Amino acid sequence: MNLIFVGVQGSGKGTQAKLISNELGLAHISTGDLLRDAKGELRKRVDSYIEKGNLVPDALILEILKERLNKKEGDNGIILDGFPRNLEQARALDKIMEVDKVIEIKISDKEALKRLSGRWNCRKCGIAYNIFTSPKPKKDRICDICDSPLYQREDDKPFPIKKRLKIYHKETEPILEHYKDKVVSVDGERAIEEIKEEILKILENAN
Ligand code: AMP
Repeated sequence: MNLIFVGVQGSGKGTQAKLISNELGLAHISTGDLLRDAKGELRKRVDSYIEKGNLVPDALILEILKERLNKKEGDNGIILDGFPRNLEQARALDKIMEVDKVIEIKISDKEALKRLSGRWNCRKCGIAYNIFTSPKPKKDRICDICDSPLYQREDDKPFPIKKRLKIYHKETEPILEHYKDKVVSVDGERAIEEIKEEILKILENAN
C-alpha cells in the first residue's frame, strides 16, 4: 500500500506518518528529512532554499526521491511525507509509483502558525519540543535530557513560516484535486492518538 500524507506545515503529518508506518510496517519517506540529512555541497545547495522557506527545484527533489525509492525495505509499501509538493511533482510521481490513498490532515493557518513558531529542537539529542503545545521542555528552551539550549529551525522563524503557508495553499493544495478520488481528509486539531486511530480505520476500510 502506497500512501501520501498531505498537510500544511505543522499539521502533524510527519508525526502521523511515523506512527502509521510503524503500525503497518510501511517505509516512511520524508523528503524534508532526506534534504536535512544531505551532506557537503548538496546540503549547502538545499539549505539556501529551505532556510528561506522556498521549495527546492523539482528536478533535484525528484532525483533524491528516486534514489531513496531504489533502496527498498520490505514490500508493504511506503508513506510519502512532504512529497509531492506541487502538480509537477505529482505528475512525475504518477510515472514511477502507484498511489493508493492520500491522507489530508487539516488544520487552520492560525493553528499552523502557532505550532510552527513554538517548535524548538535539541541539536544533541534530536528531540523536537513545542513551547506552546507538547512536548513542552521543563525549563524554558532547555533540553530535558541533556540541558543544552534549544534552537529554532531557520524555516520555523516568522517570515519563512508565512511564506511556507502561502506556498502550501498556492502550490501544494492543487494536488488534492489531482488525486481527488483517493483523498480522505481528517481533522488535525485533535489529540495525536485520536487522529491516528481515524487514519487506521480509513486504511482498514480501504483494503
Ligand atoms: P518539511 O520538513 O517537509 O516541512 O520540508 C522542509 C523544507 O524542505 C521545505 O520547506 C522545502 O524547502 C524542502 N522540501 C521538502 N520536500 C520538498 C519537496 N517535495 N519539494 C520541494 N522542496 C521540498
